Amino acid sequence: MTFLPRASRSGSPFRSVSFEFFPPKSAEMEATLWSSIERLAPLGPTFVSVTYGAGGSTRERTHATLTRLVRETALKPAAHLTCVAATREEVDEVVEGYRDIGVRHIVALRGDPVAGPGTPYAPHPGGYATSWDLIAGIREIGDFEISVSAYPEKHPDAASLDADIDALQRKVDAGATRAITQFFFDNDVFFRFLDKVQARGIDIPIVPGIVPVQNFKQTAGFAARTGASVPAWLAARFEGLDDDVQTRKLVAAAVAAEQVIDLIDRGVEDFHFYTMNRADLVYAVCHLLGMRADRPLQRAAA
Ligand SMILES: Cc1cc2nc3c(=O)[nH]c(=O)nc-3n(C[C@H](O)[C@H](O)[C@H](O)COP(=O)(O)OP(=O)(O)OC[C@H]3O[C@@H](n4cnc5c(N)ncnc54)[C@H](O)[C@@H]3O)c2cc1C
Repeated sequence: MTFLPRASRSGSPFRSVSFEFFPPKSAEMEATLWSSIERLAPLGPTFVSVTYGAGGSTRERTHATLTRLVRETALKPAAHLTCVAATREEVDEVVEGYRDIGVRHIVALRGDPVAGPGTPYAPHPGGYATSWDLIAGIREIGDFEISVSAYPEKHPDAASLDADIDALQRKVDAGATRAITQFFFDNDVFFRFLDKVQARGIDIPIVPGIVPVQNFKQTAGFAARTGASVPAWLAARFEGLDDDVQTRKLVAAAVAAEQVIDLIDRGVEDFHFYTMNRADLVYAVCHLLGMRADRPLQRAAA
């Protein structure tokens, strides 16, 4: 394995990176979030996104975090929004709120069923039934950039991967201009998905979602609930490290860097990092790949 990707021998291999954060629940978590934002911001992300808690549970906190991003940073914010368990009026109000604070980019999502992933999904009787209905509703309100989700390993609610790609097609037809994938660890899975999507003539960027493994057990649990697979080789890498935080972090940084290097060497240039509100691993991976605070996203020299 070459440790440095092709392009980084002469400059940054990335075309764009984006960082995802979740809205904090406490003053302590807010402090952690903002020290992470301050650490990662100088790398020059294309945008930073803020999630929207299940069923709208973090509506106010998401709005507050976005407001602070707009007021205190030069970062471009993207606001996540789900339509589950809400009327159209309630969702439209959130969109108008985003517009009024200067957000011009929304990550439009259906959202998990109220009873949790894997349980039956029932649209709100007065709401947007699907993510593509939601996109149409958002576009009625304003000229937003729309990102959506994509599932290289199929969403649990989809009858098949092809049915899931049908959903992606509907989202593109409704106005989506970028798709961010659920996290994955086996890059072949991503490229097989990409081939299927491109064979359908879908030509929006499909940006791989990368999750540096802060806590293997937690990540494996989340993967099980969302239909992502955890390869045996990944489990083996974290074996016996539950109580060894230092070694776990070093292994996590190496595993994430190796995944990104392989993606870059196979032609990928855009990345979305699930930060879990922590900067350490994401910063290490970006640094390993040539990004520097004083040289944000320099294009590789010709
Ligand atoms: C990049 C990314 C960011 C995310 N951010 C958040 C967030 O901030 N907050 C949050 O709560 N969740 C978030 N999620 C999780 C997401 O909300 C869940 O995966 C949810 O279950 C699906 O929403 P979606 O927009 O991806 O669904 P879609 O892609 O619209 O649909 C998923 C599958 O379900 C099928 N389907 C859709 N609607 C229906 C319906 N009405 N009846 C039957 N089948 C249907 C589709 O055909 C498709 O195959 C995120 C996921 C990703 C990948």
